[in-house]
Order: sequence, then C-alpha cells, then structure tokens
Amino acid sequence: MNVIPAQVGSTIDEIDTPALIVDLDAFEHNLHKLAGFSRSAGVRLRPHAKTHKCPTIALKQVAAGAVGQCCQKVGEAEALVRGGVRDVMVSNEVVGMPKLRRLAALAADATVALCFDAKEQVDAASRAATEFGVTLGGLVEIDVGMQRCGVAAGNAASDLARYIADAPGLRFRGLQAYHGTAQHLPSFAQRERAITDAASAVRTTIDALEHNGIICEVISGAGTGTFALEGTSRIWNELQAGSYVFMDTEYARIGGKEGGLYTEFRHSLFVLATVMSVPTADRAIVDAGLKSYSGEKGPPWVHNREDVEVVGVSDEHGKLKVGPKAERLRMGDKVMLIPGHCDPTVNLHDWYVAVRAGRVQALWPITARGASS
Ligand SMILES: *Cc1c(COP(=O)(O)O)cnc(C)c1O
Repeated sequence: MNVIPAQVGSTIDEIDTPALIVDLDAFEHNLHKLAGFSRSAGVRLRPHAKTHKCPTIALKQVAAGAVGQCCQKVGEAEALVRGGVRDVMVSNEVVGMPKLRRLAALAADATVALCFDAKEQVDAASRAATEFGVTLGGLVEIDVGMQRCGVAAGNAASDLARYIADAPGLRFRGLQAYHGTAQHLPSFAQRERAITDAASAVRTTIDALEHNGIICEVISGAGTGTFALEGTSRIWNELQAGSYVFMDTEYARIGGKEGGLYTEFRHSLFVLATVMSVPTADRAIVDAGLKSYSGEKGPPWVHNREDVEVVGVSDEHGKLKVGPKAERLRMGDKVMLIPGHCDPTVNLHDWYVAVRAGRVQALWPITARGASS
C-alpha cells in the first residue's frame, strides 16, 4: 500500500499527487440517478463492482436501493463480502477447484451466485458447494451478441438450466444476458439495434425455459451505455451497470440520443496531478502518467481547463499542450484529469480521496485492487 495521499479536512491543494479523487456531489448524483431510474422502471439494480473495487461504494449503492453487487472475479467477491456486502453475483464463469472452494466458503456469509456456459463448470461448482454444505446460485450465460462467453440462446440454454437445477448444491436462478460490445457503440441508434436483437435472443430463451417447465427468476444484464434500453424492455429485470458511478471519456464519447457527448451521468472520478515542470509557455508536464491512469482508451481529458490538452503520456509523466487561449500553468498547479477508462484506472490506486466543496471528506480503501484471481 502507498502512503495515504490526503487527510480528512485538507484542501485539494494539500492532497499529495497523483491521487484518485471522487467528487462526491457528482458521484451521489450518479448513484441516485440510476437507483431512481431502476425504481421507476420496476427493475432491480445490481451494480458492477469491477468498476470501483470498493466495499464502501458497494454499501452506498445498496443503501440507495441496489439488491447487491456483481463482480467479475472471486477475489472481488471476497473483498465485497469481507466489507459487508451480503449478496454477490460473479457475472462470469469460474473455473478450477481452488477458486470454486473460495466462492463456496463465502456462501456461509452471503448469498453467492455465478454464471455457467458448460456442464463441466456446473459439475465442479456443485462439488465445491457440496463439500462446504452450501447452496450457490447459478445463472446460464447466453451470448446475446458479444461473442465472448455464453451458450446459444434457446434450447442449449434451457438444457444447461435443467442441468444446473438438478445439480446438488446449486440453485438455478436465471439468465446472464449482458451485451458488452453494445455499450460503446458510437450512436444511440446502433445501441438500440443491438439491444433489440439481444432482447429477441433472451425472449427465445425464456420461451424455451417455460416450455421445459423451468422457472427463471432473474434476467440480468445491461451496462452504462444501454441501461435505459434493457430497463424499459420488460424482458430484463436486473441491471448491472458499473461505470455509471464514475463515467470516463470513453463513455462520454459514445454520444447521447440527440448527438453531442453522453451526459446521462456526470464525471465523478479524476486523477489529481501536479505540474512538475513548465519547459515552455505552451508545454506543461504533470506527475501522473500510465501508472496513475489507464491509457488504452486514449489520453485523459483535463477537467475545467479550457484549451489545455494531454498530448502525450508515458509511465510517470503527462505532457500538456497549453493553447493560446489557456490560462498559463505554473509549477505546482494542480490539474484534474478525467481518465479514458475508469475500471483499470481505479486498479492502479489504493485509496479514493472523496472530496466535497474543495475539501477532503473521506478516504475509502480500494480493497479489491489487484484482485484478479
Ligand atoms: C463490465 C460489465 C458490466 C458493467 O458495464 P459498465 O460498462 O461498466 O457499466 C456489467 N456486466 C458485465 C458482465 C460486465 O462485464
């Protein structure tokens, strides 16, 4: 763990950098906006913890109305349960007895579910659950267009559901139907088409399950880019969006229904950096590079600084181009960078520095940082 970058009560200028900042007003706006949407749409909300990796945030989501959390890795599930979350679904396949035993052990303290797309996975999870004397929830992941994991919609899914329902130690819960590649399609019309197609794959599968007398409680899916489509579809009944609490430039760039940026949610996550060198009037160098934010979705944006742009990133440096309209940057100035991609950025930090009205309000540990197994 690193040195804690700030103290409660200190001003933003006193925060040591690079630091991961959460703007509490924007964060709470996002938290309540999706919770309110889910409530009025009549669907459950199970936000994805792979975004924030932090039980403190998970519990805030639950307090706002979420039924629990999704996560991608067993290590994330462990951090969440250790932090007090009582209902966790691994929205992913889990392979190998060591991981399955860790998951079964958690089921003594929380409601735990996981996804399947093959019978071998079901056999192994059933064995782990039986060894620990617990019940694990099981969802069939269907491929609704992403072409990653998942069985085909329809009868293949229904067969696997029956297999789960019959397996000792497992309880069939429903369908995992997440269309990951639809989230960042660059126009609303494309996203709408992708989710319409996904909906018909889910519908076919629900029909096949009904035909075979299998009760399916949960239809889970959706992310930050398409939540409103699944949420109003009358097919999905559980939303798994994750990035909505923070936003990032990749999501801003997908565009809204009427064009422009995607503004459903506000930017609440920033990397605070300090200007460490000003070699020329039009160039400033900050102390945060690829070890403080992810770069695979492009360089970060500079928040609230007109005509200042990140034009180069390396391990420990960010190169800023200061345009002619910009206020000059001076040594020691702080800048707030909006990351290209929130999830891998969070994974580079041990603490959130939660800020309101220019002061540090709280420090939240990112206890699932690096939980990649
Ligand atoms: C990442 C992910 C989500 C959440 O997506 P966001 O784009 O972060 O909102 C939901 N479900 C699954 C299975 C995911 O992998």
